[in-house]
Amino acid sequence: MGSQEVSTVDWQGKHVTVAGLGVSGIPAARALHERGALVTVVNDGDDERARAQAAELEALGVTVRLGDGATLPPSTELVVTAPGWQPDKPLFAAAAEAGVDIWGDVELAWRLRGTNGREPAPWLAVTGTNGKTTTVRMLASILQAAGLRTAAVGNIGVSLLDAVLGDEEYDVLAVELSSYQLHWAPSLRAHSAAVLNLAPDHLDWHGSMEAYAADKGRVYEGNTVACVYNAADPATEDLVREADVEEGCRAIGFTLGAPGPSQLGVVDGILVDRAFVKNRQKQAQELAEVSDVNPPAPHNIANALAAAALARAFGVEPAAVRDGLRAFRPDAHRIEHVADIAEVAYVDDSKATNTHATEASLAAYDSIVWIAGGLAKGATFDELVTGAAKRLRGVVLMGADRALIHEALTRHAPEVPVVDLDRTDTGAMSEAVEQAARLARPGDTVLLAPACASMDMFTNYVKRGEAFADAVRARAGTSA
Ligand code: ADP
Repeated sequence: MGSQEVSTVDWQGKHVTVAGLGVSGIPAARALHERGALVTVVNDGDDERARAQAAELEALGVTVRLGDGATLPPSTELVVTAPGWQPDKPLFAAAAEAGVDIWGDVELAWRLRGTNGREPAPWLAVTGTNGKTTTVRMLASILQAAGLRTAAVGNIGVSLLDAVLGDEEYDVLAVELSSYQLHWAPSLRAHSAAVLNLAPDHLDWHGSMEAYAADKGRVYEGNTVACVYNAADPATEDLVREADVEEGCRAIGFTLGAPGPSQLGVVDGILVDRAFVKNRQKQAQELAEVSDVNPPAPHNIANALAAAALARAFGVEPAAVRDGLRAFRPDAHRIEHVADIAEVAYVDDSKATNTHATEASLAAYDSIVWIAGGLAKGATFDELVTGAAKRLRGVVLMGADRALIHEALTRHAPEVPVVDLDRTDTGAMSEAVEQAARLARPGDTVLLAPACASMDMFTNYVKRGEAFADAVRARAGTSA
């Protein structure tokens, strides 16, 4: 099936069960109802908010069943689920038993493309354990610089359904996809796609590393032009090899070293393309300088190369890659420089919620006072600490699982001074910053890269990053 083919499902009178009220369930229920489907929404929760949302949908003629997300309504012909619902839910077992298909929000958006009379835009898709949001936003910036009508959508705040069915016309979409979304998207066919990296994450949801990798790998299925992989992460290349793609689709690698044929890479501080050039055996095309990437940390250069590869696969000119990268501004709390105080840089990478992201973050600086800790989500820290030991001036720990990091430090970096705050309250952050400032020497970086989730102390990673930035700014004020 060609990637631009539009589905012709006849929704009239079709019994569809939507699993989960919420950011994806409500628009899905509305869109299906508008197309004539007989929609029932089932939801585990039955609180005040759910009741208010249910009342709005019921006013349109949608049936809503609160307090029971487990039972499949008997006449169901299709289940449309919120991506976060765990695959071992009884509702899905019942659907499988009854031979009923299960689609996620991405599958639904894919199937509804073009049903509003607009020409469907091709999708350039990005997945991976870390760097998705950054890469998708870099990609959108490059596509915009090329004069294309585009948006960064998907697991990034803008729902795919809204992008696909809204009034805006697009030439191409830069789509971030999570492993959950890919799990429930059996017929998605992107123009081109990238898997940035693969490290253990969300294994409780997927059941195993193999299942997690297989879901990520789904992003390559049916690609028409390029499957972009990370040459430093062979697991991503394995996924390309296993994918069933359209005739003529190419495997394109990215590397922080000199690129081989069919790769993008870095030579003497220049991002170069040896994939989308006429004579790739002998020639490479300059795209941008490393200093055009913001921030120019190694993992972020990898993100830029992946974004450039997807844009080049779509036919974007080299100058637009450079202009798009220059115009790109990273989202908050991702290696965000907050202030310099007494020749010490204070950097907020609160979004480093797992060890893989933190490893990349710690690799970006030479001498670091590291602030870490929170909810470990089953992670171990030995490898992370061993890799970073030489660059650690000191460590400040807080949060519920700080002992796990402390033990790894004792094992692998016993000479590094550690301040264990023994606190899990929100106010601990200003003490952490104070202790870090005490440990730091001129030229050092105080880096908040917790390697843990934040919910033991904060509402989310944003609040954690804000608490850090507030504490740093308060210090900057007093030391000014
Ligand atoms: P995602 O959308 O996959 O969560 P983000 O772009 O929001 O990714 O970045 C999440 C975290 O991962 C940040 O802490 C960032 O510093 C780190 N990170 C970004 N890109 C990479 C990469 N290519 N490899 C490892 N870590 C990365």
